[in-house]
Amino acid sequence: MPARIVITGVAGFIGSHLAAHLLDQGHTVVGLDNLITGNRDNVAQLLKRDFTFINHDVTEHISIDGNVDFVLHWASPASPVDYLKWPIPTLKVGALGTHNALGLAKAKGATFVLASTSEVYGDPLEHPQRESYWGNVNPIGPRGVYDEAKRFAEAMTTAYHRYHGLNTKIVRIFNTYGPRMRLADGRAIPTFVVQALVGEDLTVFGRGGQTRSFCYVSDLVEGIVRLMESDTNDPVNLGNPKEMTIIELAKRIVAMTDSRSQIVYRPLPLDDPKVRQPDIARARKLLGWEPLVTLEDGLARTIDYVKQELA
Ligand code: UDP
Repeated sequence: MPARIVITGVAGFIGSHLAAHLLDQGHTVVGLDNLITGNRDNVAQLLKRDFTFINHDVTEHISIDGNVDFVLHWASPASPVDYLKWPIPTLKVGALGTHNALGLAKAKGATFVLASTSEVYGDPLEHPQRESYWGNVNPIGPRGVYDEAKRFAEAMTTAYHRYHGLNTKIVRIFNTYGPRMRLADGRAIPTFVVQALVGEDLTVFGRGGQTRSFCYVSDLVEGIVRLMESDTNDPVNLGNPKEMTIIELAKRIVAMTDSRSQIVYRPLPLDDPKVRQPDIARARKLLGWEPLVTLEDGLARTIDYVKQELA
């Protein structure tokens, strides 16, 4: 059945992929964004379709006419560089924005989906991370503005489920990459690919022994759609369990781009998690989901995208 779906943060990397996929499935999408880290070009691609864009800051009251079946709350700066630049908007969108988006879902009797994050696990002492792990977060560290905002957002979402009976879903998104990431968003993959293609040194932070596990965006979107349609109200990790060190990632990107760039070392940012790998047993069991795109394929597509953007 076609649904009418509100997406906050629709001009962002994941928000815009989600919108395009839901439009492909025949749904109607109403997208909101205040464009502080979103990209207007991502929205322009959607405008010819059954899509409406509202330039709105969701920390202010959200009003949408007509029925709404789902509210997908994706609005937030999400790259460490962005949330260090926008600490208070990050806290506000996780707190006030989540409250407003939940209020909209409650008023419309819609299902609510929260974009949460592996950052709720902080610098984890349990590895890989299962949904049952409570995390190791420094509330007053530089990443606290994002981590605590998302932890508050999970608490608020769960309260609306328990006390108002709202149908809510929480997806804990692990590192995701692919086309439409902002080239200068500061994250490892776009940064390294740009550096390798333009012949600059790749800036590896620390000694590069910290690990991450990278999921291609189409896999993530498929998992989110399955979660929307599922019965569960518990948090679900979505990510690719294939873990690697950042130095391995940098070398892989140098090799795949035939680059002559060197690797240089820069100070490790404070509270940078040392390891990260999702345990996806819950997603496998409840959603029958697992990632299908290999790092090789995903990186090749991302490198093509970055080449086009640089051309
Ligand atoms: N990183 C790096 N060089 C860069 C950007 C990031 O070495 O130019 C490292 C960063 O310190 C972290 C990892 O790569 O350990 C992933 O960083 P990213 O910003 O992509 O996301 P995070 O997982 O930290 O949110």
